[in-house]
Amino acid sequence: MVYIVGAGPGAADLITVRGLKLLQQADVVIYAGSLVNRELLRETKAGCRIYDSARMTLEAVLFQIEKAEQEGLMTVRLHTGDPCLYGAVREQMDELNLRQIPYQICPGVSSFCGAAAALEMEYTLPGISQSVVITRMAGRTGVPERERIRRFAALKATMVIFLSAGMLRELKEELLAGGYREDTPAALVYKATWPEEKVLRCTVGELEETGKKEGITKTALIIVGEAAAQKGYLRSKLYSPEFETGFRKAEGV
Ligand code: SAH
Repeated sequence: MVYIVGAGPGAADLITVRGLKLLQQADVVIYAGSLVNRELLRETKAGCRIYDSARMTLEAVLFQIEKAEQEGLMTVRLHTGDPCLYGAVREQMDELNLRQIPYQICPGVSSFCGAAAALEMEYTLPGISQSVVITRMAGRTGVPERERIRRFAALKATMVIFLSAGMLRELKEELLAGGYREDTPAALVYKATWPEEKVLRCTVGELEETGKKEGITKTALIIVGEAAAQKGYLRSKLYSPEFETGFRKAEGV
C-alpha cells in the first residue's frame, strides 16, 4: 500500500494527525527533499528506508515503490503542502494504477494556507473579493496561454501565485498589463511557517525591489489584490445579529 501524504507547508507540526500516523508506520518514505521539513523524518520507525525524491526521477520513485510492494511493505510518498497543487501526483497515480498498486491520498495544509496565516489574512473578504486564483508564471513548465497572469489579473480577485518568486519583474508586468495598479496591495511570503519565514507587505509596483532587497528567489508565494490590504470590507452576514441561520435566530428584530 502506498500513501500519498501532504507534509504541510513547513513547520513539522503542521502535518495532519493522519499523515503523522502514516509516517510513523511507514517502512519506506520517499519525501520531496526540496521543500519537506526533514524534522518529520525523525518520526519514522527504526529501519525505515528513506529516499529524497529531489534526486530521483519518477521512474526511480516507482522502482522503490514497486520493490517495497513486492516485499509487502508500506510506503509513504511525502509531498510538500497538499499533493493536489503542483505536486506531480497524477502521473504517479497513473503509473501505480498501471501496476495495480493500491494507494490513498492524505491531504495536507497547503502553503497558500500557511501564507494566509503568516499574513493574518482572509483571502475572501465580503465586498472586496470572494474568489482566490491559484496560479503561476510560466517557467520551464508552461502555462496555457488562456491562463496568463494578465487574464486572471483582469478579474481583480485575490491571487496567490506559486513558483514565480524568481520572476518578479515579469510578474509585475503581467499584473499591470492585466489592469492592477502599481499601488495595488501585495505581499511576499517566504517559507511560510518555517523558522526563517519572512512576511513582506508591499504593492504590485514594489514586488521586484522587495524580493531583491530580501534576496528572495524561491520558496515564496506572492499574494496580490485589494484583499491584501484587509480593509474596506463588509461585515459578514453569517455573524451579524439581524441575520438568521438554521443554527441561530436573529437578534433584536
Ligand atoms: N503542493 C505545494 C506546492 C508545491 S510547488 C503546496 O500545496 O504548497 C512549490 C512552490 O510552492 C514553491 O515554489 C513556492 O511557491 C510554494 N511554497 C511551498 N512551500 C512554501 C512555503 N512554506 N512558503 C511559501 N511558499 C511555499
